[in-house]
Amino acid sequence: MEDVRVRFAPSPTGPLHIGGARSALFNYLLARRLGGKLVLRIEDTDLERSSRESEVNIMDSLKWLGISWDEGPDVGGSYGPYRQTERLDTYRNFTQKLLDEGKAYYCYCTEEELEEERKACLARGEMPRYSGKCSNLTPEEKKRYEAEGRKPVIRFRVPKDQEIVVQDLVRGNVSFDSNGIGDFVIVKSDGIPTYNYAVVIDDSLMKISHVMRAEEHLSNTPRQILIYQALGFEVPKFAHISLILGKDRTKMSKRHGATSVVQYKELGYLPEAVVNFLALLGWSPEGEEEIFTMEEIIEQFSLDRVAKNPAVFDMDKLKWINGIYIRKTEKERIIKLALPYLQKADFVSKKPGQEEMEWVELVVDALAESLSAVSEIVEHLGMLKSEEIAPENEEAENILKEDTFPTVVNSFWQKLKDLPEVKPENVKPLFKAVTKELKLGGKKVYMPLRIALTGEMHGPELFYIIPILGKDLTYKRLQKAVESVGAQLN
Ligand code: GLU
Repeated sequence: MEDVRVRFAPSPTGPLHIGGARSALFNYLLARRLGGKLVLRIEDTDLERSSRESEVNIMDSLKWLGISWDEGPDVGGSYGPYRQTERLDTYRNFTQKLLDEGKAYYCYCTEEELEEERKACLARGEMPRYSGKCSNLTPEEKKRYEAEGRKPVIRFRVPKDQEIVVQDLVRGNVSFDSNGIGDFVIVKSDGIPTYNYAVVIDDSLMKISHVMRAEEHLSNTPRQILIYQALGFEVPKFAHISLILGKDRTKMSKRHGATSVVQYKELGYLPEAVVNFLALLGWSPEGEEEIFTMEEIIEQFSLDRVAKNPAVFDMDKLKWINGIYIRKTEKERIIKLALPYLQKADFVSKKPGQEEMEWVELVVDALAESLSAVSEIVEHLGMLKSEEIAPENEEAENILKEDTFPTVVNSFWQKLKDLPEVKPENVKPLFKAVTKELKLGGKKVYMPLRIALTGEMHGPELFYIIPILGKDLTYKRLQKAVESVGAQLN
């Protein structure tokens, strides 16, 4: 069997995007599934927009997701260097070969000339493409242009009347007419290769067996195939994975939610949940189950089950998955994740002592159930701690109006007041004690207390809420609630 070698080849022009992360993940999954290698190659030929900062962000985001690579700029490998700007000599050698064989040529057209050509094409109702004006310059013409100080680009000479078929493992055979492709630039005037050119040389020299990437690159593929052929390289297998659309079926953008991986990290999403969610963006498992660890996805992953139709980025689904993972995760980890949010919102000091940490644990115990992202803990807590508590609706209001309400509150407060420590395990038995004392059903006790303390009909367990509020705030709320129905707290 051939050696499976795949690659993720981001341009470091910004943080790792959700779409990029999905491409990286699918490549990782395929490599792990087939016992192959994943190469990380940094395509930094856009000198103005590329930055080391973005490169670091991309690598950190991949690591956070648990996507590791076997070769790359940081770990090295036998086919390096793995940054395109460090491979310029390699490209130059191939360019010389193409020039010598007449498969590429210098083009001296200025921006203005090209713009005029473009307009003329459009005026004729044609797709703009290069006319081939410089494709057969005489040595004299070249000299004249050089003397004018023009800096040439190098264009690839696209063969005429050729059908180029992309054999795509996801999309089937997709055919292109070479006459629709103008001679395109492979080396810019500053000597830097373009994406379509460098990518071919790198994929070939790095012995990439499968090029798996986003669908938007499908239209680049015929150009790349022409270069493979011109250089006598073997063409790899291609797999173009579908676009990611927002729920409204338009291209995924900031309007649909956070677009970069690091934003999800900052919002308190768990990497396992993000991976699980990303895997389902275009790939579907065989059964009904939707919650998988990375290992489980690797076991099941196959290109046959990667869909052609667009994947829809459903934020609610991500939240749902993340909530499941939060509830599955050990408490210690959630505490660690929650702490910075609590500190930032001033619920906890910068250097929390044991008592504060116990409180944090309490908060996590109380709220983890209802979180879909860890950062939300602050909002939930804000509501709990807010000065103004009022019944959320008429039903809640009516519960406070029940005859038994003041008695329930008084009985409960008498017991709570005397507790030496307000801890969940101490508070929990008090409700039963009240029901026994007053001979009331559980609901008649819980509900009025819940509404008096939170204003809401549903929420975290009261035996967690009360220790979070503390005795003072609990007292104030109970008092205010009984006063609202004209009674008193004894
Ligand atoms: N640098 C390209 C990008 O980030 C890579 C595309 C490819 O995988 O060939 O879109």
